[in-house]
Amino acid sequence: MEKETIESLGEFGLIDRIKSKAVIFNSNTSMGIGDDAAVIDNGKTFTLISTDLLLEGVHFDLTYTPLKHLGYKAVAINVSDIAAMNGTPKQITVSIAISNRFDLEAIDEFYEGVNAACEAYHIDLVGGDTASSRSGLVISVTAVGEVDKDKIVYRSGAGENDIVCVTGDLGAAYMGLQVLEREKQEFLGNPQMQPKIDDKTYIVGRQLKPEGRTDIVHDLNEIGVVPTSMIDISDGLASEILHLSKHSEVGFTVFFENIPIENITLETCTEFNLNPIASIISGGEDYELLMTFKQADFEKIKSIPEITPIGFVTKEKENWLVLNSGEKTKIVAQGWK
Ligand code: ADP
Ligand code: MG
Repeated sequence: MEKETIESLGEFGLIDRIKSKAVIFNSNTSMGIGDDAAVIDNGKTFTLISTDLLLEGVHFDLTYTPLKHLGYKAVAINVSDIAAMNGTPKQITVSIAISNRFDLEAIDEFYEGVNAACEAYHIDLVGGDTASSRSGLVISVTAVGEVDKDKIVYRSGAGENDIVCVTGDLGAAYMGLQVLEREKQEFLGNPQMQPKIDDKTYIVGRQLKPEGRTDIVHDLNEIGVVPTSMIDISDGLASEILHLSKHSEVGFTVFFENIPIENITLETCTEFNLNPIASIISGGEDYELLMTFKQADFEKIKSIPEITPIGFVTKEKENWLVLNSGEKTKIVAQGWK
């Protein structure tokens, strides 16, 4: 046997390893590592906790990311994980490490974004930590949320014949990133260049200012439907399907022609010579929700226009993407290496 390394484990293998060595001492720790948020039993309801780390040069590029947008996005992506448990975010803590490259105006701008997100989602900034950094800006946000015990949704509840749905549209954030990267390269070659992204505002906006879908959590609550499983789409549809499949011990069959995609997303794939199928199912950062429903709830779901059915759940633990030609291709693992 080869010696195990971080490379051989990959992101998910590494998390599984950390999880296998973590001991739970408290009986109110209802769900630890493994879902979109940790679940703490506080008696009447469940408290949800989710955290994310954002590093300059890895997760964002300040040459094209306005700090205000970055502040908003750092909050929104955690809100998204709370929404993925069918919960409502309530509080956040925000920690930053900054180098002497940043001035007060820059930090004010970042917090303008944080505060705008707090207002949009009705959440309170209740703490954090501030440190200096030698390698660019570091941001860590933790969100705390709440969910009624009978409404919580895990990655693990999908059952045979359930209907697979997604919210919003997919692939736009990834194509927005391609546009921003191209503009950066052109700007570096010729700083006099004016960016030409006028017709790309939608996809660029999807990359720079994503939203957590708390509106969907609200809508589902209104119609009295609880999904059987749910996850937010941060790493791309394919990757999230594999998570639901693994945790629920079922398979997913989804139809490419049913996936909601904006025209500008497809047009930009063509313009960049990128395979639309790969871009749509592997491109991340849309922060939409992937969920499954019991067939009996299907009629009710139709009243929420932002939810689109894209496939069904099978007992066989294999995951398939059916192309428009009718040809099937197996959905395979990824995640960062
Ligand atoms: P998401 O994409 O929804 O943010 P991740 O893939 O980052 O989820 O994490 C999956 C699960 O693993 C979560 O429960 C998360 O809290 C946990 N996790 C990730 N990294 C670590 C770590 N270094 N230590 C402990 N738990 C971790
Ligand atoms: Mg998530």
